[in-house]
Amino acid sequence: MRIAVYSTKPYDFETLSAANAAGHDFTYINPRLDQLTVALADGHDGICAFVNDQLDSSVLCNLAEMNIKFIALRCAGFNNVDLPAAKKLGITVARVPKYSPYSVAEHTIGMMLALNRQLPRAYNRVREGNFALTGLLGFDMYGRVAGVIGTGKIGKQVCRILLGLGCRVMAFDRHVDQELVSAGVEYHDLPELILQSDILTLHCPLTEDTYHIINDDSLGAMKNGVMLINTSRGGLLDTRAVLRALKTGKIGYLGLDVYEEEASLFFEDRSGAVLTDDTFARLLTFPNVLVTGHQAFFTREALEKIASVTLDNITSYAQTGQVPEKNLVS
Ligand code: NAD
Repeated sequence: MRIAVYSTKPYDFETLSAANAAGHDFTYINPRLDQLTVALADGHDGICAFVNDQLDSSVLCNLAEMNIKFIALRCAGFNNVDLPAAKKLGITVARVPKYSPYSVAEHTIGMMLALNRQLPRAYNRVREGNFALTGLLGFDMYGRVAGVIGTGKIGKQVCRILLGLGCRVMAFDRHVDQELVSAGVEYHDLPELILQSDILTLHCPLTEDTYHIINDDSLGAMKNGVMLINTSRGGLLDTRAVLRALKTGKIGYLGLDVYEEEASLFFEDRSGAVLTDDTFARLLTFPNVLVTGHQAFFTREALEKIASVTLDNITSYAQTGQVPEKNLVS
């Protein structure tokens, strides 16, 4: 198949090329997919897209007009795809539902520990010959209440590591995972979880139900000085409400790997450019905020698995016009 691969970075090129034993014809395109770049897909049989590629109804219509009826997402989340529009246009959308829950879970815990023990500040201090500890005081994770929202593949792994650290782990999900219950995780409703948690971490998908699940009201109910971590999707947080809560000290620590408006920022080197997103710029002024640029998935194992499942989806579609049921989004 001829596939236009959007948002290609050197690591995508390497892993997808290595996994392409079937010899599909890939056109690697650096920019993300949007209204301007969709024309580059002309002449292809399908496209391969990533988290910030724009797959709204107008881009999907453009693809359908080019007779492109197949999208291979090389990610798990599909909140960037207008699924009703894809269905209406007869576009098959495949994804990689599971690659390495460990990658995201471990990054999540890394953010918690880095914030708690102020590792970025400590790193800078020592390099400047400042060995003072004042201002670096942390807390024991052991015995703290950690609240996990969403205990699917990633959240489950986060729960396991938190249990290993000796946290009391509370969880909220529509589905109770009995393995986690046996391991010691306590399921509660969301208000109770929010009320009791010293650390809150988000691992549910971004849907209509979960959009701005963290807002002025939920923040108001949290413990003072709560640690909040979001490695899931930016839209789960109302960022302006979060800024207000940082200013009052309600949020004591904030770790973000995702951001509501990340599409126009992340995955590119913008170090020479002026940052025009004032909300994001304000976030970066707080000493107790740690932001990474949608990096949580970024391990060797995850990239290899993403590439192999993406290639399976493409080959399966090329041969049968279908993708494995477990990888089918629409
Ligand atoms: P998953 O589908 O295995 O788990 C999601 C869980 O959330 C499920 O158990 C589901 O029941 C639960 N859920 C759904 N709606 C909910 C709601 N309203 N309230 C509470 N729980 C709800 O998904 P996963 O593989 O664990 O991934 C979770 C999210 O992580 C993805 O949706 C994606 O947004 C994000 N993610 C981020 C990165 C990254 O690099 N930062 C990488 C992969 C995935």
